Amino acid sequence: MTTGLAIEDRDLNSALRRGARLRCPRCGEGRLFRGYIRVAGGCDCCGLDFSPQRADDGPAYLVILIVCHIVGFTLPVMFGYMRDNPLLLALTMSTMATVLALALLPPIKGAFIALQWSKGMHGF
Ligand SMILES: [Zn+2]
Repeated sequence: MTTGLAIEDRDLNSALRRGARLRCPRCGEGRLFRGYIRVAGGCDCCGLDFSPQRADDGPAYLVILIVCHIVGFTLPVMFGYMRDNPLLLALTMSTMATVLALALLPPIKGAFIALQWSKGMHGF
């Protein structure tokens, strides 16, 4: 007897890819966010409720970790080129860090939510 609640495939890899593309981790079609990183109430296509997600500060911590490593390893190289102009070096590195952080935050948050959905965390 089937109950109508079939065990759905929650493949982690495909869910992470869909989440990183800012799409619903279940169907890959509906938008995960409204605006920049505000999580939508649910999927427009499959109706998955996104309200159980608890990404909180996790994506921001991961973005900081990644961006600081990139900037930290790039700084000595850039210092070699811009040794004579420290203001330009500071502006370049600050701009690079800001752009990287803003670009990485939505896909990483999407992947976090997809991970939670794939593992059935927090009520998913
Ligand atoms: Zn969906």
